[in-house]
Amino acid sequence: MTSPSIKPINKSAIHKICAGQVILDLPSAVKELVENSLDAGSISIEVALKEYGEESFQVIDNGCGISPDNFKVLALKHHTSKLADFSDLQSVTTFGFRGEALSALCYLGDLTVETRTKSEQVATHLTFGRSGLLTEEKKTARQVGTTVTVKKLFSNLPVRSKEFHRNIRKEYGKLISLLNAYALTAKGVRLVCTNTTVNNKTSVVLKTQGSGSFKDNIITVFGMNTFNCLEPLSLVISDSCKVDGFLSKSGNGSGRNIGDRQYFFINGRPVDMPKVTKLVNELYRSANSKQYPIAIMNFIVPTNVYDVNVTPDKRKVFFSDEGSLMKSLKEALLKVYSPHLASFSVQGPE
Ligand code: ADP
Ligand code: MG
Repeated sequence: MTSPSIKPINKSAIHKICAGQVILDLPSAVKELVENSLDAGSISIEVALKEYGEESFQVIDNGCGISPDNFKVLALKHHTSKLADFSDLQSVTTFGFRGEALSALCYLGDLTVETRTKSEQVATHLTFGRSGLLTEEKKTARQVGTTVTVKKLFSNLPVRSKEFHRNIRKEYGKLISLLNAYALTAKGVRLVCTNTTVNNKTSVVLKTQGSGSFKDNIITVFGMNTFNCLEPLSLVISDSCKVDGFLSKSGNGSGRNIGDRQYFFINGRPVDMPKVTKLVNELYRSANSKQYPIAIMNFIVPTNVYDVNVTPDKRKVFFSDEGSLMKSLKEALLKVYSPHLASFSVQGPE
């Protein structure tokens, strides 16, 4: 065959290709909005779902709001206020930094934003088109903060849309579990999630008071009985790595694999840590046959030893020296799990 010529992909096709990678499903869509609210310094965040998110979802916050200077570029791909220079990636502490979420949501659903900063007397209601361009701007009433509404997610992608409607209850379940992760980690932030059904019945699905401690957040999310079955964990893995959290006490695990009660964080950022999950489960099961533990673990490490920019949804993380981290973690956990040291307990985080 003759060698075909290589041409650049046009901007609109790139947008379509990338949008579905940033927003995979309902949980990842809501996650991006909640993270934006946290990055905006909100201390109250409400997630309002209609029909479990199938019809629409809305994230309402009391953060810093968006300045009118930014309205036009707000939902453009790769536009962010959080990262100015590539070298900043080494020290990123905000949840977002890729400037992709709002742009992807414009392509995947109908996006509107209501926002007001403390320097504005009134709020502005913004409507965006599929490509992320601002199509309408009008004044409205609102307190300082931002409300982002997305209607008809995936209506633009027929295959994903079918899957979305078919799996809505499952996606909703995953979303609640994900919101629990933010309720556990976001200290001092009040987080509420409501769902309104077609017959206009609204129920509160999750409600936290925004306490300052991991312990209080666990009690709010899982209840006192569950908390009483946990023991605090405070491990020193190396000079630069500490792990704080809670694990099921020996003999207090669950008979089924409770993935929805195992939460891992790096410096408070909820992430997937499959190797750590496997290690924690294996060690617990070796000491407590056929049981899985509840595990809530926050790895406290310098920002330059890990990379969260691995996948667009930022759930996957690479560590610079994963081998020695896992080895030291195993040694530290063995001390906690060993049946001979079942009563071993260390001072946990407050
Ligand atoms: P990123 O979070 O990676 O910057 P996004 O597409 O999620 O990208 O958001 C683009 C920009 O819009 C953010 O950098 C921020 O400046 C602004 N923004 C989005 N949501 C909010 C919000 N709830 N409050 C204040 N600013 C927001
Ligand atoms: Mg973001």
